[in-house]
Amino acid sequence: MTVRETLPIRRTVTTRQPTDKNWSEHKPDLQEDFNNCCGYCDSFDGFRHTYFEVDHFIPKSLFEKNGNIDYCQYDNLTYSCKFCNNKKGSKWPSKDETIPNINNQGFVDACSPDYENHLYRTSKGSIMWKTDLGKWMATKAFRFDERERSIIVLWNLNELRKIINALIVELENYQIGDGTYEIVKEKLGDYSLEYFIYHQELMEYYNE
Ligand SMILES: [Zn+2]
Repeated sequence: MTVRETLPIRRTVTTRQPTDKNWSEHKPDLQEDFNNCCGYCDSFDGFRHTYFEVDHFIPKSLFEKNGNIDYCQYDNLTYSCKFCNNKKGSKWPSKDETIPNINNQGFVDACSPDYENHLYRTSKGSIMWKTDLGKWMATKAFRFDERERSIIVLWNLNELRKIINALIVELENYQIGDGTYEIVKEKLGDYSLEYFIYHQELMEYYNE
């Protein structure tokens, strides 16, 4: 499976045109373009397990020196969970903004289809690598290995959330008391219980 269910696409015309260091004004656009999910690990922001931030793909520390990129340049911004953003930090493999990876170290932009050529999602929900560059991103940069359990829990929760939403819509097609209504309702109950258990685990994980 792909790491992200949908490849995020950055809009070309942004709602706002912030200047100076006000890049966070782009956050609502980014949230939409990234489908409410972290560009790197695909965790859904609606579980409120952490803050979601605006990551500068090419790190600020690099372009502050070279001066070729603007703080608010939209194509350099990624909607990112706090964990991915913190772990990525100012890491960059070269002294050149145009070289994001070198000798299997570095990054692939979250909006590039190439991102999925280096990493994949297992059937259990963890994130593994297909290439050495993917391994570097997973283990040296974003530390997907270190937080594997939370990545699995978040992925399962989001899958269950989508199933439950679809079942709620389906239920509206049937009358209370119909055989099909009862079957759908029972399924809904099973998935909701599973969701609840994962959600409790998520709460415990982040309350530690
Ligand atoms: Zn993330």
